[in-house]
This record gives sequence, structure tokens and C-alpha cells, in this order.
Amino acid sequence: MPLNTFFKHNVIKGKDIYVVDDHHKALAAWALVRRSVDFMPNLITIDHHTDTHEAFLRHAHWEAYNGRVKDQGKFRLGLVARIDWRSDASIAVAIGNLQHDEHIDAATCSGALGDAFCIQLSDSWATPSVEQLAFEKSMAENWPNPPTITKPQRPMTYQPAANRIYALPFDCFIGCRAKPHNDDCLIRQSDEIIETRYLNDQIMRASEISRCFGLPDLEAAPYILDIDLDAFHTRRAINPEDPSTFYRLIKNAVAITIATEAECVEDEWLDDEDQMNSDDLLQELIGHINKAL
Ligand SMILES: [Zn+2]
Repeated sequence: MPLNTFFKHNVIKGKDIYVVDDHHKALAAWALVRRSVDFMPNLITIDHHTDTHEAFLRHAHWEAYNGRVKDQGKFRLGLVARIDWRSDASIAVAIGNLQHDEHIDAATCSGALGDAFCIQLSDSWATPSVEQLAFEKSMAENWPNPPTITKPQRPMTYQPAANRIYALPFDCFIGCRAKPHNDDCLIRQSDEIIETRYLNDQIMRASEISRCFGLPDLEAAPYILDIDLDAFHTRRAINPEDPSTFYRLIKNAVAITIATEAECVEDEWLDDEDQMNSDDLLQELIGHINKAL
């Protein structure tokens, strides 16, 4: 199966844009980009979800459940080892067996991508720091007494992840003082998803991570910019007041992949009075890409 059956390819002012309906089909585009350069591009992804599941986790589970596979873990790793980004047939087989949220692991573990950084709205702790893990360990060991370590403060340090995927932590919208954060916070935070102040904060947090394995900041190495439209929950979110950082990320990306994920967009949408679907969001996003380039 030729890879171009998995995506729609557009070129906007010389930039390759690949649009997929299901996010895991982006693996086809990433493999093509990988073939066109002599390095592993990193990934900067903007998504509602973290998309950090292990590749083929559900397929392997299903095969074991049905008695076709004895050792689920070994079977899964075998499938990962057989992904060859140089081969259309291999990528097509992989896409056939991947399910939701497993595509980044498939790409980083097969050498199609280098490091992946996920700007996301579903897990505020995300990839834990060394200090955070130590704090949690101390909490567990001392319970019900208080931990012997004080709550860690940024900047923090990180261990390189085996699968090279880093989900970026967040607090709330920039400047939020609510304790605890509430439903209104969630709307205001998601409204900021591509605002410069929010992205700058995310890029700073990513740099705390990437510095620990020698990458001074997120934009210091070539990257593919990947956007899942379900990251946008309101019309306000896709129309930032200050898009300058977003535009810079677009401009400097080796290529751009977009997942339309129509059902997820509908599920995550937060404004009942003003509905947008994934077609509307795609049109707005293409407008931004045109302006940025
Ligand atoms: Zn808040």
C-alpha cells in the first residue's frame, strides 16, 4: 500500500503539510520526511492527549487474549523491531496494527523520529522530574507522616526516557492563582493553547527536560511540528491574540503533520453556543500556516 493513501499532502509556500484523519497514520508522513533528510527529526506535538502509549500495546494484548501469542511483551517488541521507515510495506503493516496514542512510540523506537515533546492538556504532571519522583517516594515511605523531602520547585532535572518521549507538564493558564484549579481554569487554559505566553512557558519547561540530554532548547534541533485538532476546544483557542511563537514554530518546522480526529474534536469541544468541527478548525489552521510562512 503506497504511503500517500494514509494522508493528504499539500505544499504551502514550499512547506510540506500532511493531513491525516486518524493520528496514528501520521507515521506514514514521518517516515517520508525521515527519508528526505539525513538525520532523525524531533517532534513537537500539540494535542489534547499525551499520545504516549507503547506501540502495539493493544494489538499485542488482543493477540495474547485470543491465544495467538504466548509472550505479549516479546511479541510487541518484535513488532516494533520490524518497523522500517525505509519500507512502505513495513510502515503500512505498522499503521494497520497501531491504535490510538501509540504512534509516537512507534516512530521514536524505530528511528523515524528523534526526541518527541508533547504539549498537551490532559496530564498536568506528565513526564516526572527526578526531584518529583524522589518527593513521591518520600511521601509513600513516610505516609501517614509528612515526606522528609520538601516539595520540589522548578527548574528540575530529568532522566532521558528510554522511548525518548516527553510529555510537558503544566500548571494552568498563565497567571492563574485559583486553588484548586477548576472547570473555568480548564477553559481559560485551553483557550491559550497556541498563545505566545503559553507556548513560551511550555518551551521553557521542555528545555528543562532537553537540557538534561544535551539539547539546549526545543528549537535547537530540526523538528516536525505535529498538531492534533482536538487540542482546540473553543473558537478563541484557534484565534490567538499573539500567534508569534506559534508562527515561528510553523516557519522553522521541517514539515507539518495535522490530525483532524473529527470525533475527538467533537468530544473535547467546550463551547456549546459556538460549535466548530474539525473541517472548520483545519481551515483556520491552514490560514495560520499561510500567514506564518
Ligand atoms: Zn487555574
